Amino acid sequence: MDSYRYILKSTNESSKKYGVCEVCGKHVSEVYHQIEERKYTGGWTQHNCKNLFGHEECLKNIRK
Ligand SMILES: [Zn+2]
Repeated sequence: MDSYRYILKSTNESSKKYGVCEVCGKHVSEVYHQIEERKYTGGWTQHNCKNLFGHEECLKNIRK
């Protein structure tokens, strides 16, 4: 069974700089950046993982 972890941080910028939410496609007043990492033997990798910008709530909802 794959194990995932997430790094979530605010960019302190709105959609004007980063574009609309990549999950719901709507405007975001404070864009969050979520980096997904998958566990493998020996550590964590971002290979084949989603790296998305959008609403904090949207990003939390798409976690595995
Ligand atoms: Zn959204």
